[in-house]
Amino acid sequence: ENAIEVLGLKKTYKGNGKAPPKVALRGVDLTVKRGSMFGLLGPNGAGKSTLINIIAGVVNKSEGTVKIWDRDIDTHSRDARSALGVVPQEIVADVFFTPRESLEVQAGFYGVPADERRSDELLAALGLSDKANAYVRSLSGGMKRRLMVAKALVHNPPVLILDEPTAGVDVELRRQLWDYVRKINEEGVTVILTTHYLEEAQELCDTIAIVNRGEVITCEPTEQLLRRL
Ligand code: ADP
Ligand code: ADP
Repeated sequence: ENAIEVLGLKKTYKGNGKAPPKVALRGVDLTVKRGSMFGLLGPNGAGKSTLINIIAGVVNKSEGTVKIWDRDIDTHSRDARSALGVVPQEIVADVFFTPRESLEVQAGFYGVPADERRSDELLAALGLSDKANAYVRSLSGGMKRRLMVAKALVHNPPVLILDEPTAGVDVELRRQLWDYVRKINEEGVTVILTTHYLEEAQELCDTIAIVNRGEVITCEPTEQLLRRL
């Protein structure tokens, strides 16, 4: 009953003219159980984004296997896409849209039928109802980030992946995001997040994998890890 299973995953970014090749993952094994709130904790450059970008199908792996929802599916496939909601680290705003339009376009992209769309519900859940019809470019950074979380959820994926969800986010908004992520996890969504804050991993996650220099150093229940630290 795994949400994600990674075996022997390696990644070397090809160099170009000046830049030498860069080894980002050196053989990662990782299992994320269904229903868990899973934290990938490690310093900048450790390989966290590379790992989740490979799972999300936006970066090609060099070697190894990735199973999503216990199926050997191609990470670039439609099946993989429908299983995953991904919130990238950088804010990618649809500046010419309103938040509501942005969610509708995303729902269309995923083929969600009109009667199953829940744009207003998602906007409300993320505190964006007042801005539903404003231009996205007029939203604050925190609001754009919340919109990206809403976008990742339009197709009701069983797994939500967040890359550094609270980087550059103020304390109040961090709390809001944490509460929301906790809520959807309680509703059954498996959550995987990357962070370089122990505090964030400890507060939210039931399981923590520590990533360093392209390797998973340890992966264990949060309480067990904290007892050893
Ligand atoms: P983290 O998310 O833990 O900060 P990353 O996965 O972003 O780590 O990076 C892991 C290593 O791979 C770093 O040394 C980084 O510089 C390198 N890297 C990441 N993306 C690329 C890329 N597109 N091309 C070359 N090297 C990259
Ligand atoms: P591919 O043929 O590899 O699927 P695409 O151009 O369809 O290439 O998209 C590349 C990746 O970018 C896909 O994995 C898809 O998940 C993502 N993608 C493309 N367009 C969108 C979009 N509008 N919203 C979200 N993800 C997108």
